[in-house]
Formats: sequence, C-alpha cells, structure tokens
Amino acid sequence: MNGLVPAGGTPLLIDGRLVAGGMGTFATINPATEEVLGEAANASAEDLDAAIGAARTAFDTTDWSRDHAFRAHCLRQLRDAMRENIEDLRAITIAEAGAPVMLTSGPQLEGPVGDLSFAADLAENYSWRTDLGDAKQMGIASHRVLRREAVGVVGAITPWNFPHQINLAKLGPALAAGNTVVLKPAPDTPWCAAALASLIVEHTDIPAGVLNIVTSDDHELGARLVADPRVDMITFTGSTRTGRSVMVGASATLKRTFLELGGKSAAIVLDDADIGAAVGYTAFSVAVHAGQGCALTTRMLVPRAAYDEAVSLAARTLGSIRAGDPTDPGTVCGPLISARQRERVERYVDIARAEGGRIVVGGGRPAGRECGYFVEPTLIADVPNTATVAQEEIFGPVLVVVPHDGDADAVRLANESPYGLSGAVWGTDAERIEQVVSGVRTGTLSVNGGLWYHADAPFGGYKQSGIGREMGVAGFEEYLETKLIATPA
Ligand code: NAD
Repeated sequence: MNGLVPAGGTPLLIDGRLVAGGMGTFATINPATEEVLGEAANASAEDLDAAIGAARTAFDTTDWSRDHAFRAHCLRQLRDAMRENIEDLRAITIAEAGAPVMLTSGPQLEGPVGDLSFAADLAENYSWRTDLGDAKQMGIASHRVLRREAVGVVGAITPWNFPHQINLAKLGPALAAGNTVVLKPAPDTPWCAAALASLIVEHTDIPAGVLNIVTSDDHELGARLVADPRVDMITFTGSTRTGRSVMVGASATLKRTFLELGGKSAAIVLDDADIGAAVGYTAFSVAVHAGQGCALTTRMLVPRAAYDEAVSLAARTLGSIRAGDPTDPGTVCGPLISARQRERVERYVDIARAEGGRIVVGGGRPAGRECGYFVEPTLIADVPNTATVAQEEIFGPVLVVVPHDGDADAVRLANESPYGLSGAVWGTDAERIEQVVSGVRTGTLSVNGGLWYHADAPFGGYKQSGIGREMGVAGFEEYLETKLIATPA
C-alpha cells in the first residue's frame, strides 16, 4: 500500500527484529469498500512466547528502566519518525480503520503522535524520588525515601476504533515510565500497529525487546498474554465484556489490570439550556466516526416539556448527515469497522422496534452504498431509559432520546446505567450545572460543549467503564510501582 507496508504484508516486531508470523498471514479489510487491503503477519503462540520472553529479558537485564533521559530521547525519535511518515500513516488509518480523513489531523493520528511529547517530557521531568523525611517508630528513627519505578513487563491489548490514539496512549506512558511492552492490537487494525514496527527498527534507538508488536486474527492470543506469569501488568482497552475476562485471566497471577471499557454516556439538557445548540451538538457528535467512540454521549436526556422539539431538532441534524467515503474531507460519518459490527447495530435497531421504540430517522443502510459497512445516522425515540437501546452500548451512529422531569431526575437517569465513562451537561445556571456535575458518576464531563480530551487530561471510567485513568500524569502513574526505602536517621 505504501512505504510502511512491505509487499508481502506487515511483519511482527519481536526482540528488535521484523519477523514473519508463525501462523502465516491474515487479511486486513477496507471497511469502506470491503476490499482486501493486504496481509498482516499472524502471530502464533510461540511468537507471543518469544515476544514476552524478549520483553522480560529487556526489562531484567538492561538499563532501560533506569535511564530516564534515554527513554525520553527514544520516544521523541518515535514521534519524529511518525511525523516524517505521517501521510503514509494517514492513508493506512483511513483505509484500515475507516477513519474520516478530517479526524486524522486530530485524535485519529496527529493528536496522539504529538502526545508522545507529553510522555517524553514526563520521563525526563517526573519526580522519581520523594523525600518523606525522618520519623520515629518503636524508638527507631528512620529517614524515608519514596521511589517510583516501572512495573515491569506490560501487555497492551487494544481495540480498532481509534487505533493510534489507544496504542500510543498506552505505549507512550508505559515506555516513559521504564516498562517494556508487548502490544497486541485488534485483528481489525493490524497495520496501524505494525506500521510502527519498521519505524521503531529503522528510526529509533529503542533497544531490542523493549517494544514488541504481535498482530493476530485470534483473540486467544490476548488471553494468553493476560495469563502469562512473566507479564506484570495488563493495560486493556475494549469492551466491558472482554474486560471482565481480562480481570479473571489476570487473577491467577494477581497482575495489575488497567481497564478502559465501554460506555453509554448521557448528555443532560437542562430546561434553561440553549436547546438548539445542545441537541444539534449531541446529535452531530454521535455520527462522528460512525459512532465508534466509547465516550460519545449516545443517550440524550431532555426536559419532558421540550421532548418533541428536541426529537425534531435531533432528527433534522442526524437526517442531514450522510454516511460516506472516509477519504472525502467533508465526511464525518464513515463506515463501521466490519460486517459483524454493522449487524450488531442493525440488531439493536430491531430490538428498539420490538420494545416499542420509534426510529425517527435512519435505521437502515444508506442508499447508493452497496459496498462498505455503512449504516445511516439513526435517531430512536419513545423508549424508557431502561430499554435495551438506552442501556447497552451500540457502538454505531445511534442516538436515543429520553425525557426527564427536572435536574434531579436527569441525574438519576444518567446514573441508571452500568457504565460511567463520560457525559455532558447543557444549561445556563452555574449552580444548577454544578449540582448536576457533582451528581453524575462518570470519569469525564463536558459542560456546554467543552472538550476534555487532551494529553494532560486523565480519561477513564467509573463503574463498569473501567479501572484506572489513561493520559495525563495519572495515566503515567498507572505504569509505576512505589518503593519505600528507610535508613537509620
Ligand atoms: P473487544 O473487547 O472485542 O477487543 C478488544 C481487544 O481485546 C482486541 O485486541 C481483542 O483481540 C482482544 N481480546 C478479545 N478477547 C480477549 C480475551 N479474552 N482476552 C484478552 N484479549 C482479548 O473490543 P473491540 O470490539 O475491539 O472495541 C470496541 C470496544 O472498545 C467498545 O466496547 C468500546 O467502548 C471500547 N473502547 C473503550 C475505550 C475507552 O477508553 N474506555 C476506548 C475505545 C474503545
């Protein structure tokens, strides 16, 4: 396809070498055209074993975890190499993830590449030691120093929806903190991860074994990585269902698990909000990248008195968005990642109908798009908050509207969910907004369209949306252990 993808397909990166997969190759598909883009190396259990062994040896026998300045240097090299090859990476991201080109100048590519600077700066400037001073216990005076150290070997398991953002939001801080890593990306987006392999080998001083990349079409490889006793920590992003099995799989070796999971976030529109802005923004945002974002506000809670107006405003916005070609700079809603994902969205539309819901716009496949896994931006109304489509994550461009009876009721409904990832509040009265903000149990909240996404802003979930925080200093500290040293004072 381009300079980052060799003719026979992308290789694995194991112990500093680009190698073929023990299970041959598997195809990666363009979700906008259903065409086979090409091949990616298919790792075997033996390949994974070698990758974990290499990461373990690199952690145990090199200075990687102690040389903070060298790690910062390596991360900046990786950032610069990605920037020099940004157009090739962009082409891969659009073709393989179906990401609209407009998003690649932000969170789909250029944003996370730039965020490697934040990780590199932390490697250099973080306070690795804190002097706790003297203290006396049982007559013994001691001087205490707290040290922060890398956890060890990190297994990183990632999904397909924002492949660079999620891969780099794990690799950046994990490496900056001094860990070694085995990355297992999603089977749907192997090239986005494997494209890093040749950049790492050819353009960085990252030592052999420090970062290993194993692509595979078999989810079982992820489970093996989770269970392996040589791995100290799993950092996982994906569905809540898989997150549960990651926790179970990690329990036998009691390894640290950092989980970024699903969501069904609520946008709360208060009765003093600018309803046009609130509804227009919320409806537009669920169509971005065909709704394949864990933190999108896919449940809109509106005042009962404004329900009909909100439904018609949302219908106008969603009805005006055409799912289309991701290479077109005007496209916000591209394809879903796979036929399986499209069937899932269509199944939820059927469930909504069966539970008495009204499909106000969309609900089908867009006319004139016989190829590609497209669905129309869809609005579902007239279902209670307890309906399946208001409770479960659909992961498509589908907005559900539910009426509320005042601020307290809106907070109750927002929290009536197993998830707690994100949310939004729209209103004008600062005190009422504050009440709602403190009542909603989620990891991020947007007020009147504010954007929380940034390198220094921790992101993650309450409840079944996850454990831990990605990004920011908090995201970096997930990858650190704490060691306390006491000497006689
Ligand atoms: P998924 O859970 O099916 O797969 C995620 C990754 O886990 C893949 O690499 C997969 O191969 C691997 N995997 C599958 N089974 C495994 C097992 N038993 N043990 C270990 N690894 C296993 O998720 P997906 O369909 O790729 O991605 C969509 C999901 O990701 C959505 O639920 C979405 O909300 C979530 N997501 C969450 C965030 C966040 O930050 N909270 C961000 C993006 C996506």
